Amino acid sequence: MQTIEKYNFAGKKAFVRVDFNVPLDENFHITDDTRIRAALPTLKKIIADGGSVIIGSHLGRPKGVTDKYSLKHILPRVSELLGVDVQFAPDCMGEEAGVKAAALQPGEALMLENLRFYAEEEGKPRGLADDASDDEKAAAKKAIKESQKTFTKKLASYADCYVNDAFGTAHRAHASTALIAAYFDVNDKMFGYLMEKEVQAVNKVLTDIRRPFTAIMGGSKVSSKIEIIENLLTKVDNLIIAGGMTYTFTKALGGNIGKSLCELDKLDLALDILKKAKENGVNLVLATDAKIADDFSNDAATKIVPVGEIPDEWEGLDIGPESEKVFADVIKASKTILWNGPTGVFEFDNFTHGSRTVGEAVVEATKNGAFSLVGGGDSVACVNKFGLADGVSYVSTGGGALLEAIEGKKLPGIAAIEG
Ligand code: AMP
Repeated sequence: MQTIEKYNFAGKKAFVRVDFNVPLDENFHITDDTRIRAALPTLKKIIADGGSVIIGSHLGRPKGVTDKYSLKHILPRVSELLGVDVQFAPDCMGEEAGVKAAALQPGEALMLENLRFYAEEEGKPRGLADDASDDEKAAAKKAIKESQKTFTKKLASYADCYVNDAFGTAHRAHASTALIAAYFDVNDKMFGYLMEKEVQAVNKVLTDIRRPFTAIMGGSKVSSKIEIIENLLTKVDNLIIAGGMTYTFTKALGGNIGKSLCELDKLDLALDILKKAKENGVNLVLATDAKIADDFSNDAATKIVPVGEIPDEWEGLDIGPESEKVFADVIKASKTILWNGPTGVFEFDNFTHGSRTVGEAVVEATKNGAFSLVGGGDSVACVNKFGLADGVSYVSTGGGALLEAIEGKKLPGIAAIEG
């Protein structure tokens, strides 16, 4: 497989798929430029080699050309961070894009307008009437798949090589994230540095595991995490279940959970997970106590109670001190750690303690030589809130992509390069 480090970009034009889907405020100011910074090593290497870059990205979920989602808003910041005056093509398929791409000189950069302004990027028909018949739907699907080929080929024609550095969209088989790779020779397509790091981090928790391996699964619902939990049950030594999911398990085991979050249709599933954990020799760790509130608010009255003894009008919004200690001890004795999802409603300051304690234990284990991967959903916001990001081995930039990788799925964006 080709690598970005080995590749000499001198005199070459590289199409680089990045994930510049950054948050913007109402004045189109970038409120968090992490994603742009994350792609800089890749872009800078190409330019330093004497190559030129054609930057492709999406922004938001436009259903057509929408000024709000124009990448022109982020152009000045990209230029500033890259240290190059980045040119702009206001239509990724327009004549101007082709002319500008062809004229690029070594060291220059061109950013294409939002790829998702074209339905072909995602390959899904747009504008179908709600009452469209099945035949109409099938015809529209066929038509978009055909025009997607033309779209993809045109994007590929701008460049001599393809670099995918957009881990955040690696779970999508879109034109610029996967299909485009088919138009390049095996030696002319590769991961960018960010994508490489993400793939390595995922491998460390899925294949190259040092034991004991502990996964901490928090967040709100069992239903959204079930495939990950099932995949992890064949891999981990310890599975800590925390967050809102706790109460579905507690209820299934016959406890009283008051008004706590619970998926009543998942009680059997919870019991099945407990059974499978036992069969696989996995130490499944559930909270034993909860910090409960008389209202879903930061200012609610609180109490610490055993997790299965929550009064009717109360709800569990975080783990209690006894659970914190048990969780922390398991984490500190681990050599590989995966953390996805807070232990409680960490957005409320009065219910952050459990998540913070877990985060601090992960940092301590990392200091003692463990490999720790944090990612997916709110976990990143959580470590950032507590200022712990620098203390863990790797914070993934991919939400859905990371979760699908942990579920054991082969991501189209990775498969397109790895083959
Ligand atoms: P997820 O996106 O599945 O990782 O879920 C993250 C969300 O779960 C956060 O917004 C938390 O506030 C929420 N959450 C965690 N614990 C609880 C709980 N005990 N009750 C309700 N929501 C929770």
